[in-house]
Amino acid sequence: MNEGLKKATIDGLNKRGKTEILEQIQEPMEEKQPKKNKVESIEDLPGVGPATAEKLKESGYDTLLSLSVASPGELVEAGGLTEATARKVINAARSSMGMGFESADELLEKRKNLLKVTTNSKAFDSLLGGGFEAGSITECFGEFGSSKTQIAHQLAVNVQLPKEKGGGEGICVYIDSEGAFRPERIKQMAEFLGLDVTQTLKNIKVARAFNSDHQMLLAEKVEDLIKEQGLNVKLVVVDSLMSHFRADFSGRGQLADRQQKLNKHMHTLQKLATAYNLVVYVTNQVMSKPDTFFGDPTAAIGGHIVGHNSQTRIYLRKGKKGTRVAKLIDSPHLADGEIVFNIEETGVKDV
Ligand code: ADP
Ligand code: MG
Repeated sequence: MNEGLKKATIDGLNKRGKTEILEQIQEPMEEKQPKKNKVESIEDLPGVGPATAEKLKESGYDTLLSLSVASPGELVEAGGLTEATARKVINAARSSMGMGFESADELLEKRKNLLKVTTNSKAFDSLLGGGFEAGSITECFGEFGSSKTQIAHQLAVNVQLPKEKGGGEGICVYIDSEGAFRPERIKQMAEFLGLDVTQTLKNIKVARAFNSDHQMLLAEKVEDLIKEQGLNVKLVVVDSLMSHFRADFSGRGQLADRQQKLNKHMHTLQKLATAYNLVVYVTNQVMSKPDTFFGDPTAAIGGHIVGHNSQTRIYLRKGKKGTRVAKLIDSPHLADGEIVFNIEETGVKDV
């Protein structure tokens, strides 16, 4: 660099802020170091020093995967990063995981390998393209007695089955907000399938949620069970999603607040589903739509927040002779349709 240019550069630097100067000085230095392309741990990410890494880990961001699915706002809060650094960190974590654009044939291949948990009914499974799918949220909504909770029990058992029998070889975390979980029913179902009853019961971790905040907290704790206790969680049940939210935010003026919390809750569930390739099953109540003139005048509660976050929505109702009817609503990849199944005696099965 000739003297004149050097002076001009330094003058230019002096006019700028301190951080910019630091960046100017640091950048060429970085280039001299052998380029480290491979990001293998959090510490390898740009802008993450040991202190920040520690803070992020304390807040639960201890894998590249957890960072790659985080939002900048969350990292700002958790690790004291600036928003710009948070974005850089997330992008680097994403590219280290090979996230980004993929061709559709690769996606198709991946989707073929997605875990699907059987319901024990061939008709129900085929309605869902193979069973309850991991990686996203599946919602069943319907009136009281329509079998939402029975399906939750059945999945809690079936997720434990070997893969070749339609299971996930994993365990279930069951968030019970209505006090409707019954170990006796699990026992019946396990016996019918010829499973070890004690082991089946042991593999279902149940927590009663006492209000909406508690429910949110329990969902957040699932990650600890996976990471700290090493549990192979393949199913998270929330039965029901909305009852506490409905009770805790009953005033008209509280609706926006409720939806915001609900959104956060569903994001937690969504993240669990994608980050750990597990099935999330939520149940939901219905309300009647007085403005419906044709068709069924019932709809799920929770509005757009629930609708947008549940990738698979199933409407359940009672059918003839004690049967139940499951109707698939607006699936992004499956044809609409409805099937009939049984739930009594032994659990879910074909009619
Ligand atoms: P929802 O959660 O949609 O309100 P449930 O899943 O609790 O409805 O379904 C209740 C129905 O499940 C009962 O009406 C009954 O038909 C059936 N059921 C519940 N427990 C048993 C059982 N132990 N044996 C047989 N059928 C049962
Ligand atoms: Mg129920």
